[in-house]
Amino acid sequence: MDKLIHGTAANDTVRVVAAVATKTVEEVVLLHGLSPTATAALGRTLIGASLLGATQKDFDRLTIKLESDGPIGGIVAEARPNGALRGYVKKALADLPANGNGKFDVGGAVGSGTFFVIRESGFELGLHNAPYVGSVPIQTGEIGDDLAFYLAKSEQIPSAVLLGVLLKNTEPFVAAAGGVLVQMLPGANEHIITMIEDTIAHAPHLTSVIGDGAGPEDIAQLVLGEIEFKKLGEREIRFECACSQEKAITMIEALGPDDVRSMLDDDKGAAMTCGFCSSNYKVSEAELAAILERISEA
Ligand code: ZN
Repeated sequence: MDKLIHGTAANDTVRVVAAVATKTVEEVVLLHGLSPTATAALGRTLIGASLLGATQKDFDRLTIKLESDGPIGGIVAEARPNGALRGYVKKALADLPANGNGKFDVGGAVGSGTFFVIRESGFELGLHNAPYVGSVPIQTGEIGDDLAFYLAKSEQIPSAVLLGVLLKNTEPFVAAAGGVLVQMLPGANEHIITMIEDTIAHAPHLTSVIGDGAGPEDIAQLVLGEIEFKKLGEREIRFECACSQEKAITMIEALGPDDVRSMLDDDKGAAMTCGFCSSNYKVSEAELAAILERISEA
């Protein structure tokens, strides 16, 4: 089971959120058949969304979206307060050789563009509140850097973000995945900030410690070094899509009578694939006819 924890340190002047998400990223690879670079890109973005979500209140859905010009064509990752995560990249097979440091060239695959954070609330209650949308230009495209830049620039919270996905050559392909977010809250003193920066600069790779069995508590302590971590809560995180046959039918209804009639006449049915989880939904000719009758009456 993947887990996310949150807590504070240094008299509540530092917030730490840490997650191990190996199983979640494994599932994403299998569902989308992602290339290694796309796995690292989407895995990091999903973990980033889960970490960011844990610092926010009152939202139904938090989305990190990258609109960019690189071969991957854009990334969408969604987190819900119950720990459900889902997402996709536009070009699942886009891949690049390792960069100069021998790592996945996520920045190259992403390219330049805009990094968005979108928070939606109220829709579970049928309210259509305007979503909160924040954005910054993509910095390196390595995701962690971009999230830290977004937090500093758009939300004025000095933050450090480490996100990692380590792959292996055999199924299920993901050796380790996880991340940690450290935020300096009002009142954080310079000495503490310097200590944490120094600890992070000298810390071993996140994915190698996760691969060795470290949990989120260990990761939180890893970035805090000597400073004591006070855990305040934890939740399970997992890949989970909210799509269903019922929602597929609602989508068809929303198309209107003309489109439904042409699906019925030309295709004798409808087939849809969910972009988030690759589930297939089929709507039979008889069902389409029933939908058409329903929406024509309305
Ligand atoms: Zn789905």
